[in-house]
Amino acid sequence: MEKQLLDVAIIGGGPAGLNAALVLGRARKNVAVIDEGRPRNAVTREAHGFLTRDGISPSEFRRIAQEEISAYPSVSFVADTAVSIAGEDGQFHIATAQGKTFESKKVLFAVGMKDRPLDIPGLAEVYGKSAFVCPYCDGWELRDEPLVVINKGAELMHFAPLISGWSNRFTICTNGPDELTDTQREELLRHRVPLFESPIQSIDSNDGIVRQVVLVDRTTIPCRGIFFKPELVPGSDLPRAIGCHLTDTGMVVVDDFGKTNVPGVYSAGDAASRMHQAIAAASMGAFAAAVINNELNMEAWSRNG
Ligand SMILES: Cc1cc2nc3c(=O)[nH]c(=O)nc-3n(C[C@H](O)[C@H](O)[C@H](O)COP(=O)(O)OP(=O)(O)OC[C@H]3O[C@@H](n4cnc5c(N)ncnc54)[C@H](O)[C@@H]3O)c2cc1C
Repeated sequence: MEKQLLDVAIIGGGPAGLNAALVLGRARKNVAVIDEGRPRNAVTREAHGFLTRDGISPSEFRRIAQEEISAYPSVSFVADTAVSIAGEDGQFHIATAQGKTFESKKVLFAVGMKDRPLDIPGLAEVYGKSAFVCPYCDGWELRDEPLVVINKGAELMHFAPLISGWSNRFTICTNGPDELTDTQREELLRHRVPLFESPIQSIDSNDGIVRQVVLVDRTTIPCRGIFFKPELVPGSDLPRAIGCHLTDTGMVVVDDFGKTNVPGVYSAGDAASRMHQAIAAASMGAFAAAVINNELNMEAWSRNG
């Protein structure tokens, strides 16, 4: 069994964990980034909206980040899954799937969220290529194109005006009967947005590019892109296991500084925010890292004074 003494164990090496590692490495902290390498946007070819990296592939983004962080020798990368955590502020114990154990003064959960795509035949083939979840990430590439929005209820009435900023040529499929009120239906009618409630039978595509959505009632809707709402689940069960409070949607509850309710435990990125963007995750990671670093330095200062 391999043992390491760390200032900070960062669990998760996406934009949040990597930016935290950069800040902590530059602050001369002894850090391990434990990452199993399954980021949320792995299905996409291009990630957008990160200044200086617009259009980069997610794997290239990670490669550059790891190369830059490697300049700071107190940061190590561990390609493994953290499977258990115990202990308390000043001494956490983390075990990995491959049998490594780490002891760490502080822990940062940057474990992201996982998407569970809808169970629709043909969706997996287009997901990340012409079916997406976020118009800020992929709306520009589909601007003015005919789109299908798969969504329902209150969320749909928020999403319809949002997506209209990228394309007015969209059709809504609720994939089964929806409980929209008469007023909501009238609103969609006023905006000339077609609404279909028949369940979706399949999504037809060529090389990942959607051609049409076929409904059980035999309606076919030609389109060039899809936006849908996947079910989101926490990237890891470890925050809950160590006692972190979660929201009813599974997000780790943090304060403005990235602190959870468990002393010494922090969280950043998609795992702890409703703004699911790489640059927002990186920013949260950087902020939490500075707060952790400050806490470590204050503790050392008091011990030594
Ligand atoms: C289809 C799609 C397209 C997207 N496109 C864009 C885009 O164009 N631009 C943009 O800004 N954002 C985009 N996003 C959102 C973006 O992917 C996320 O906001 C971002 O990845 C969040 O970063 P993160 O570091 O919080 O989590 P992630 O990037 O998800 O990284 C979390 C990491 O933690 C690891 N992990 C989890 N649990 C453990 C564990 N127990 N042990 C070890 N490792 C663990 C995971 O394997 C993963 O590598 C997209 C998302 C999706 C789903």
